[in-house]
Amino acid sequence: MWKDLDISLEKAETLKDMPSVENLGFGRYFTDHMFLMEWNRDQGWHNAEIMPYASFSMDPASTVLHYGQAIFEGLKAYRSRDDQIYLFRPTDNFERMNNAATRMSMPRFPVDHVLKALKGLVYLDRRWVPAAEGASLYLRPTMIGVDPFLGLKPADNYLFYIIMSPVGAYYAEGFSPTRICVCTDYVRAVKGGVGDVKTAGNYAASMLASEQAKERGCTQVLWLDACERKYIEEVGTSNIFFSIDNTLITPPLSGSILGGITRNSVIRLAQSWDIEVEERPISIDEVIEASDSGALRESFATGTAAVISPVGELLYEDVSYPINDGQTGPLSARLFKELQAIQYGHTENSFGWTVKVG
Ligand SMILES: *Cc1c(COP(=O)(O)O)cnc(C)c1O
Repeated sequence: MWKDLDISLEKAETLKDMPSVENLGFGRYFTDHMFLMEWNRDQGWHNAEIMPYASFSMDPASTVLHYGQAIFEGLKAYRSRDDQIYLFRPTDNFERMNNAATRMSMPRFPVDHVLKALKGLVYLDRRWVPAAEGASLYLRPTMIGVDPFLGLKPADNYLFYIIMSPVGAYYAEGFSPTRICVCTDYVRAVKGGVGDVKTAGNYAASMLASEQAKERGCTQVLWLDACERKYIEEVGTSNIFFSIDNTLITPPLSGSILGGITRNSVIRLAQSWDIEVEERPISIDEVIEASDSGALRESFATGTAAVISPVGELLYEDVSYPINDGQTGPLSARLFKELQAIQYGHTENSFGWTVKVG
C-alpha cells in the first residue's frame, strides 16, 4: 500500500507576505504550503498532498480532542551562506515519531515517503528559510486521530500533516545563561508512561509548573523523577547535561525521558573530542554537592529550538546555586558553535547528519 503513495501537488494561487526576520519570534507565522495525508483501516495511508496552508474541519467528537491521540515532531531547515538548504538528522525525527505512533496506538508511516514529501515541501517554500544568522525554518510534523466517536479506543482515521514556521535566532539578545527552578511539586513523566514520546498531553501537563517557575523568576523547571523525587530527568522540554570535574553527565534514557536528537549529537560530538561522557542516573544531591565543592563546571540544556542553552543558576528549595558564575562555560560555547556550524552546512558533514534539500 505504501509503495503507491504518490504525492500530489496543488500550489497556492497567491503567496503570503513574508514577515521581516527581526519580528519572527517562534511559531507565529506559517509558510504558503503544508503536507497532508490520511489513513484509515481499509486503505492505509492515502491522499498524500502538498497543498496551500489552510484550516481543516474536524468533527467535535474527534478522538484527538477528547482522548489526546496526538504526536508531533520538531526539526529545522537551515540556509547556508552559499544558499543551500539543509535538514538536520530528519530520519531520526521520523523514526522517533513512528515509535511514538506505536506507543499511542496510532499507525506507523513510511519514513522514506514522508522524508520525500518534507523535502518537496521545504523546496517549494524555500523562500521562507531565513538567511539571517541563527534563524531557520521550524518544521512540525503532526499526527492526530480523527474518528467522530466517543468510545475509548484507537481511532480508525488519522491525519498526518507537516506545517512550517520561520523562526528567529533563539539568542536574539545573545547567548545568555538561564535560571532554572528545581520542581518539587509536580512531575513530568513516569517510567511506563509516555514521557519518552512527543505526545500532546505531556506538554499540557507541564504548563502549570512552568508558569509557576516563571512567577519565581525562572526560565524553566528542572524535573525530578516521579518515584523518589531525587534523580534529575529533564529541563522544561529539553535534555540536561552537567559537566562535573572533567566528565559530562546526562541522565540515561530509561523510559521517562525524551531521547533528544540534540542530546545524542552532543554525546557523539563530545566523545569525538575525547571528553568522557556518562549516561547515568544523577541525583539533585550530587549536583548540589558538586556545586558546593566547586566540581560542577557547567550545565546546559539541549533541544532543537535553542540547540544549547547554558544554565547559569539553579534554584532548589529556595537556595540559589550559581553555575560558572552565571556565565556561559567554554564547553557549552564550543558545542553550540560546532553544532550550529554542522546544521548550517558550514563545516564538513563528517557524522552524516545533514541532508541537503533540492
Ligand atoms: C523535543 C524534546 C526534547 C529535545 O529533543 P530534540 O530532538 O533534541 O529537539 C527534549 N525533551 C522533551 C520533553 C522534548 O519534547
